[in-house]
Amino acid sequence: MRHPVSRPPQTGARAARASRHRSFRSIARWLGAVALYYTGLYHLYARFRDSWLAPCIVIVMYHRIRCGPRPAALTKLEEGVDFCRFREHVRALRAVGPLRTVCGAWDDLRAGRRRSSVAITFDDAYRDILPAVEYLVRSGHTCTVYAVVSASKHGELLWWDRLSDIVRRLTNRAEGERGVSQSDNALHVEASSPGSSLYLNVSELRELARRGVEIGGHSARHPFLGRVSQERLHREIEESKRFLSREVGIWPVSFAYPHGSWSEAARKAVLDAGFCCAVTTHPGIADRTDDPAFLPRVPAGDETAATLALRIVRADLARVWRRRRQTLRFSAWQRALESKAKLHGQRWSKR
Ligand SMILES: [Zn+2]
Repeated sequence: MRHPVSRPPQTGARAARASRHRSFRSIARWLGAVALYYTGLYHLYARFRDSWLAPCIVIVMYHRIRCGPRPAALTKLEEGVDFCRFREHVRALRAVGPLRTVCGAWDDLRAGRRRSSVAITFDDAYRDILPAVEYLVRSGHTCTVYAVVSASKHGELLWWDRLSDIVRRLTNRAEGERGVSQSDNALHVEASSPGSSLYLNVSELRELARRGVEIGGHSARHPFLGRVSQERLHREIEESKRFLSREVGIWPVSFAYPHGSWSEAARKAVLDAGFCCAVTTHPGIADRTDDPAFLPRVPAGDETAATLALRIVRADLARVWRRRRQTLRFSAWQRALESKAKLHGQRWSKR
């Protein structure tokens, strides 16, 4: 989940123009995706990219996987990605490189391996990802699951699932009326079911770890780590590390910042706790020059493989453009330094 961005509300002709603009952009994106994927250009790019570009890791972010018809969900996250779509995504991702765990892919990249790889990640360890994980493991691949301690160990609902549950109960007329009438202005509605059936529990996580799936840290209670106090920050990360090593029985490997929220203190605390790398919700593709505690990811929604392929190519091109600009800026700075040193040398020799 990303931070909400507040924008001033648009009205009248301006709003209509913005909506027209959005439709044109989505049609252009759809046409671009179809042209890229179904003409074979994407597969050509995936096959030859490592011959002329630096190797990278495409870290793809999923939350929930849906088997069957689309449910009456309140949020996109709750809706999940259709399992058949997920299999299409995997076929498209395999063209870029082997599917690895985040830590394994990062270690390979740091060791100087010349082949790009893909890491599929599932945040919050929802139980409905099991068919997808099973599919990956049976096909000889692997993935990374980021578990929250309060959800997986104690079966507590994460705050947005709690909120969805309350809203769903309020739409039930009898419960809604009772919730409002208990007090004049306040709603007294408790979330109903515990999250024990919604998230993977400790023994399931242990079993996945035994089968080669990486179980990563995702804090104790899923707060915005960039905004909490220093004391809470250390408690969240330490508790997550203790849970992984004592309950799941693995050494902490990678970490995912809840809500993608991080700070310099959070970054330092994650590395000090012994996590080898950390992923964010910042969109992009990671390469060797990236900060290990700030690896970007590619978000995957309930979309076609062609749309996901276009997103990957665009992120890769953006990465190449960013690095090129950095190199140009560095060489301009170096040239300026050299000419300054030359001038200084000339002045010195005249004395
Ligand atoms: Zn999360």
